[in-house]
Amino acid sequence: MSSTESAGSAGSAGSTTDASRTVNGGISLWHAQQVAPTPREPLPGNASADVVIVGGGYTGLWTAYYLKKAVPFLRITVLEQKFCGYGASGRNGGWLYNGIAGRDRYARVHGHDAAVRLQQAMNETVTEVIRAAAEEHIEADIHQGGVLEVAYTPAQLARLKDFHATELSYGEKDRELYGARETAERVRVADAVGSTWTPHGARLHPVKLLRGLAAAVEALGVTLHESTPVTEIRPKHAVTPYGTVRAPYILRCTEGFTASLKGHKRTWLPMNSSMIATAPLTPEQWDTIGWEGRETLGDMAHAYMYAQRTADDRIALGGRGVPYRFGSRTDNDGRTQPSTIEALRSTLLRCFPQLAGVEVTHAWSGVLGVPRDWCATVTLDRSTGLGWAGGYVGSGVATTNLAARTLRDLIQQDSGQSGATELTTLPWVNHKVRRWEPEPLRWIGVQGMYATYRAADHRERTTHSAESSRLARVADRIAGR
Ligand SMILES: Cc1cc2nc3c(=O)[nH]c(=O)nc-3n(C[C@H](O)[C@H](O)[C@H](O)COP(=O)(O)OP(=O)(O)OC[C@H]3O[C@@H](n4cnc5c(N)ncnc54)[C@H](O)[C@@H]3O)c2cc1C
Repeated sequence: MSSTESAGSAGSAGSTTDASRTVNGGISLWHAQQVAPTPREPLPGNASADVVIVGGGYTGLWTAYYLKKAVPFLRITVLEQKFCGYGASGRNGGWLYNGIAGRDRYARVHGHDAAVRLQQAMNETVTEVIRAAAEEHIEADIHQGGVLEVAYTPAQLARLKDFHATELSYGEKDRELYGARETAERVRVADAVGSTWTPHGARLHPVKLLRGLAAAVEALGVTLHESTPVTEIRPKHAVTPYGTVRAPYILRCTEGFTASLKGHKRTWLPMNSSMIATAPLTPEQWDTIGWEGRETLGDMAHAYMYAQRTADDRIALGGRGVPYRFGSRTDNDGRTQPSTIEALRSTLLRCFPQLAGVEVTHAWSGVLGVPRDWCATVTLDRSTGLGWAGGYVGSGVATTNLAARTLRDLIQQDSGQSGATELTTLPWVNHKVRRWEPEPLRWIGVQGMYATYRAADHRERTTHSAESSRLARVADRIAGR
């Protein structure tokens, strides 16, 4: 498939910008590279099930997978508004890694040991995804090269060292701290002064994982309905335009789209993240970069970037761009702003100036779910049978799997099939958080926060100060982290 080929019928074709021939939208590069699957039938009418899962992303599908494996007779129905992988699970940077949003707050609230257990569970989750994908014969270009995060200003280096020490304190004994030379031996990022590397990470192809998982779930006997938007979730009811599915358990797995559900406008904020992908680089270009270990690559900027070397030798790189759309609106099939594409291209060239002139073939965006306190959570309300998992911010590729196994255990516990488990007692379980402010406060706050983070990055770059800019602390306060 050519690099500029647009997505099949699973997504819209996207639009090509004349200036750069970049396909903008079309859901994502990852969808564009795959043959469109046969759409699954929408819900035909009223129905019943034992468990209804709303949302066909990683959270919903992993939950269906583990529940069905644990209790094969369960009747599980997944309702997906568009098609499986339409959301962040089909658009992400393919960093399968051990980060989880909110760990430090959970440490403050529940104690350090509880957060160490959570971190340990995340480390094991990276291994579990790789194991499950292998067991299900899902070929998702998984390469466990670890995660390399680089610093290229003195202030970033100071944060990097703090970050490294913090991760060690959460039990990550196998994390390394590198100087400029060792960093360059892995990836030659311009001006890099140091980096930290952990083995608990892998690069993957998001849509290959997603589609393989959907197929595995279906083969287990789970019912998947696509083109079926759920308009309202009530105890024991998932309401759609085609009928209502009744079940004792209804699980909301809608992440960045949650605001579109009745009563959830201010539950989680849909934060944009955008990506670009280059054309496959030549061996000569790779010789100037290194990156033979295929580590996932990030930096320590406040408005950070994340990148991977794809299996077909492109660089796919993401970052924030325009952070949020007024009124919690979401993008149009992944289309992003031209200014965001330009900003991401500048970030790419900041890291690898030798790639000036390289073609950016694809650009897209997606939404993350951000709770008011930036803490991911997994919950089952035993009085109503309503459950949910999400608010992963930008760290959901692995976390969704931990959430899914936890939802399985919570349901088994609630239905008397088992007691509390190691997972049901983790500190992110049944965590409560207040809602976001109404508009226009929400919009003003988020725009202000990211403008301030960008100003902090600019100041650190230009002053070469070894101190993190005070502006970043202001932005943290606006964010409520
Ligand atoms: C550009 C981008 C890059 C990212 N990069 C990384 C990364 O490299 N590593 C990482 O760990 N995380 C990353 N993330 C985050 C990660 O992708 C997500 O946290 C994760 O995919 C969330 O999975 P999910 O199933 O909870 O949500 P989603 O994948 O968003 O799935 C939700 C699904 O629910 C459906 N839905 C929504 N509302 C309804 C409704 N009312 N009725 C029926 N269906 C509905 C949607 O169509 C969607 O398919 C990134 C996210 C984005 C956007």
